Amino acid sequence: MGKIISFLLRFIPRKYLQLFSHIPLKIYTFFLKGNNVECPVCDAKLTKFMPYGRLVSRPNALCPNCLALERHRLMALYLKQRTNFFTAQNLKVLHVAPEYCFIDRFEEMKNLEYITADIESPLAKVKMDIHQIPFEANTFDVAICNHVMEHVDDYHKAMSELYRVLKPNGWAIIQSPQDWTKAHTFEDPTITDPRERERVFWQNDHLRLFGRDYGRELEKAGFTVTEDDFVMKMSKELVKRYSLPSEEIVYFCEKK
Ligand SMILES: [Zn+2]
Repeated sequence: MGKIISFLLRFIPRKYLQLFSHIPLKIYTFFLKGNNVECPVCDAKLTKFMPYGRLVSRPNALCPNCLALERHRLMALYLKQRTNFFTAQNLKVLHVAPEYCFIDRFEEMKNLEYITADIESPLAKVKMDIHQIPFEANTFDVAICNHVMEHVDDYHKAMSELYRVLKPNGWAIIQSPQDWTKAHTFEDPTITDPRERERVFWQNDHLRLFGRDYGRELEKAGFTVTEDDFVMKMSKELVKRYSLPSEEIVYFCEKK
C-alpha cells in the first residue's frame, strides 16, 4: 500500500490528488475503524493511519477520513490548545494554500470570517500571488500559511506580505520543511533540474531548504516569533496515539 501511494504522489499532480483522492479513502476508513489511533482534526478513531510519502513511505501517516497528515494533526492540537482560534469571536482569517482537511471544518466555524487563498489550488476561494497579497494592511486577525515558503520565488517578500496584512496583535502560523542538521537556510537559483532539486531541497518543486535559522528569517519580516516545542512536552503515548511529528517546532508569529 505504501509503495502504491508513493507512486501516485510522485506522478499525479497534487491539485488533482486533492480533488479526487478523498472518495476511495473515505470508503477505506470503514475498514480501519478501531481505537489505536485518533485524529484530532476529524475525531476519527482507527486501528491505524495509512502510509504516506513521496520518496519514503511513512507508516501511520495519513488519516483516510479527512486526509490529515502528522503535521496537520499537530496544527489542529496547537490551534485548540495554544491559541484563541476556536474561542475568540469574529476572527478574520486568511488561510494560504489551505489544506483539504481543514477547509470545510474552518468554513463551518461561526466565530471565523474565513478566507482561503492560493495561486493555483482549486480548493481556494481567492486566487492570489503571495508576493502581492490583494488585501489592505491590517486586515486579518489570523494568517495560516504552511508549506508555502519553500516554493515561492522570494520568501522574504512573502513573509513581509503576511506581516503587512495582519492586524496589530494578530498572529500567524507559518510552517516550512526544515533541515535541523543545518544552521543556515540554503537556496541556489542555479539548481533547476527537478531531480537535483529533489536531492538538495527534498522535493522537485522546492527552491530552498530552511535550516535552524528559519525563525530568524520570520523575524526579519517584522514578526515576534515564538518557537514552540509544544509536541515535545506531550506524553509519548499521546504523540503515538495522534501520530504526530515528534520533533516539529511550531512557529507562532505575532505582529506586536
Ligand atoms: Zn482525520
